[in-house]
Formats: sequence, structure tokens, C-alpha cells
Amino acid sequence: MNMSLEDYKKKRDFKKTSEPKGEDNLKNKERFVIQEHWASNHHFDFRLEMEGVLKSWAVPKGLSGEEGIKRLAIQTEDHPVNYINFSGKIPEGQYGAGKVEIFDKGKFELLEKTKRKITIFLNGNTIKGEYVLIKIKEPNQWLIFKIK
Ligand code: MN
Repeated sequence: MNMSLEDYKKKRDFKKTSEPKGEDNLKNKERFVIQEHWASNHHFDFRLEMEGVLKSWAVPKGLSGEEGIKRLAIQTEDHPVNYINFSGKIPEGQYGAGKVEIFDKGKFELLEKTKRKITIFLNGNTIKGEYVLIKIKEPNQWLIFKIK
């Protein structure tokens, strides 16, 4: 069990939400998903399949398809890999209550990864191109934008 999923599990009551319980899955297929989430604040959840989990960021305005348009991305708890196919309604009273729909998904290529910078090529149906995530502030504030 990947320790990084502990936060994910702590926040959810799997008797009430239909979200996947999930385990870590080390067969990395280099997939990504963007889930549109109508929670108390509407946002987009950007998730990259990495290190046996989905590394996750909440992007209030979503990724821009235009080069250089920077969007705030708040890193959230790692999610299990099988969350990549999740859509549905998280019930009232549960963490993240509200509708979740898949906005885009596809494969990505990891071009560079350091503690504060991740460069990827995204090949989704809508979102395509080279993007960079840069950590701007501890503990969880990043920017994401298209560079090519
Ligand atoms: Mn969300």
C-alpha cells in the first residue's frame, strides 16, 4: 500500500461515496485525466499517473490551451490510479460533494521532473502540447501553463 494514499482514504467514507477505494498500481501507463468537478468551488482536477498513484492538482480555471497563460494549480492528495475513470456524483456531506465529469484524458510523456518543476507533453483529445508545472509556494501552490 502506497503511504501517499492515506490522506485520500482518511477523507472519504467509502460506504457513502462511489469513488474508488483504490490501491497503488505500479504499472505506470503514463496516462492523465482532467476531471471537471462541481464542488463548493467549481474547478478542474488535473491528475498524472506517476509512482503508482495519480499525482493531483486542483486547477480553479482549468488548463489553458494557449501558450504562456498561467493557471494556479493547488496540489491535492494523491489519488488511486483507478480514479482515472471516475465520474459521478459525490453525495452531499461527503468530501468534495458534487458532480464529477471527465473533461479530457490521454497519455503524457514525462520530459523533466525535479522537486519544483515537472515538464510533460500532454496528448489528450482537447489538451495537447508541452506543459510545465512549477511550484511557486510551499506547501502546495503551483502554476501550470503551456510552453509549446
Ligand atoms: Mn476536485
